[in-house]
Amino acid sequence: MNCLFCKIASHELDAHIIYEDDLVLAFLDINPISPGHTLIIPKAHFLDLAAIDQPTLDHLMMVAKKINIVIKEKLNINGLRLVQNNGFFQEVPHFHLHLIPHYQEKPTYSLEQIKSLLKQSI
Ligand code: 5GP
Ligand code: ZN
Repeated sequence: MNCLFCKIASHELDAHIIYEDDLVLAFLDINPISPGHTLIIPKAHFLDLAAIDQPTLDHLMMVAKKINIVIKEKLNINGLRLVQNNGFFQEVPHFHLHLIPHYQEKPTYSLEQIKSLLKQSI
């Protein structure tokens, strides 16, 4: 299947990966709304919230909670949004969660710097 996030999940395409296990992959958004903007995807292809199976969704939420804790510890944020888009709102047709930090003063970290700050702690 010609799916961008399937290709990232199988390491056919590169991404700034901060966490990986058998079921999921977390990587930095290529066009971040703010530094630390993270995407969490199942390795298996599911289109959207209606399609994803419950155990995979539960596991993704567990990983989201874990990464949220590390983002709070490592980046000086003052808020964070958990976003999941479907249909009209969804640009990439492979289920994903967004973790989007907010800062009082936006830092100017590169994706590489954010990756090394977060990856070692998750
Ligand atoms: P959606 O609107 O589908 O919820 O959001 C898709 C997100 O994927 C966008 O924030 C976009 O910047 C991100 N994105 C699109 N293509 C790539 C890519 O090739 N690599 C990475 N890391 N993120 C991507
Ligand atoms: Zn896919």
